[in-house]
Amino acid sequence: MKTIDSLGDLAGKRVLVRADLNVPLDGDRITDDGRIRACLPTVTALRDKGARVILVAHLGRPKGEADPAFTLKPVVDRLSELLGADVAFAEDTVGDSARSVVDSLGDGDVAVLENVRFNAGETSKDEAERQEFARRLADLADVFVSDGFGVVHRKQASVYDVAQLLPAAAGLLVQKEVESLRRVTDDPKRPFVVILGGAKVSDKLGVIENLLDRADTIIIGGGMSYTFQKALGHEVGNSLLEEEQVDTVKGYMERAQKNGVEILLPVDNVVAPAFGPDGPATTVGSDSMPEDQEGLDIGPDSAKQFGDALKDAGTVFWNGPMGVFEFDLFQAGTKAVAEALAESPAYTVVGGGDSASAIRNLGFDESRYSHISTGGGASLELIEGKQLPGIAVLEEN
Ligand code: ADP
Ligand code: MG
Repeated sequence: MKTIDSLGDLAGKRVLVRADLNVPLDGDRITDDGRIRACLPTVTALRDKGARVILVAHLGRPKGEADPAFTLKPVVDRLSELLGADVAFAEDTVGDSARSVVDSLGDGDVAVLENVRFNAGETSKDEAERQEFARRLADLADVFVSDGFGVVHRKQASVYDVAQLLPAAAGLLVQKEVESLRRVTDDPKRPFVVILGGAKVSDKLGVIENLLDRADTIIIGGGMSYTFQKALGHEVGNSLLEEEQVDTVKGYMERAQKNGVEILLPVDNVVAPAFGPDGPATTVGSDSMPEDQEGLDIGPDSAKQFGDALKDAGTVFWNGPMGVFEFDLFQAGTKAVAEALAESPAYTVVGGGDSASAIRNLGFDESRYSHISTGGGASLELIEGKQLPGIAVLEEN
């Protein structure tokens, strides 16, 4: 994969950087600025080289047209604070405002273009429409740096097509992400333990498939564990359940047994009468879930068992919280796993948007983990062993 250094002397050059600035917002307040901080090394490296930095990014899911609810303005303010420098903001992505903002940049200056998904061409399935939009992006710059790891699995104009129109390289974040995740998939130090959680089994089928032949232990908690508990014949009450995946999951458990892969499931669950912050929360064994309750966290015995399984691990990959950590009553399981991982001497990688923000919001120091990925879907697809368009395009040209 080409790196920034392969782009030659960047002094005075206009560098278009695809960043992932898709932060969670509460109104216009940023609740987790991790992704903004993750783009700083590349932005700083480019400024130090005297480049004129033009950031292009998306926020949320606007429908291909301008929508003030999804403006990048709050992100620009935070970026400016973090950089300790002015950041210019273009009120469109490739229109008059973008051109005049780019024209006014001096060496080492930084600008952010308005939400790239305000343009239908960005995510269009019609190649010609996408390429036309990519051409307009490319017209703003001399070279392209791909640093939005969270979107490298997408074949989109600002990720994929533009990289074919300009000299292109991976930014420091994309480089670090790919190196860290490949260290997990290619010849991991053993035992290799994988912890999966979160809401939906169907999001993670590909990962489970791929890991059934590679991992030594697969730990499953969170909402997706109820489909596994059901497959074991347990009552799961009103818990999240993907009935249509029960047979697939049974197949996984058989394959795991054949391959000598250990699958650990919760032995107890924290349940409540309904989904919500209020409880009352009760702990029950996984073979005695009441029909009228919903499982919202793993129980303390499961947390202990999962933690013990991490103690002698060589490599750990974690994706997906163990419970509804957004509510105080149901965060103990996720906290316990986060703590066990932080304590572990293994090479530890956390992937997934919610898992990463759980770690930060529960007060864990990020430096206690070997790598916290900024990409949810992208990190999972790399772990699945897939070719990602936004990475492949940096390797081929
Ligand atoms: P990531 O973004 O890290 O990949 P996911 O998006 O797959 O993780 O899952 C995160 C969500 O799963 C969280 O919002 C969490 O509340 C939810 N979740 C975890 N356990 C449960 C559960 N038992 N019931 C309902 N939702 C759950
Ligand atoms: Mg998520």
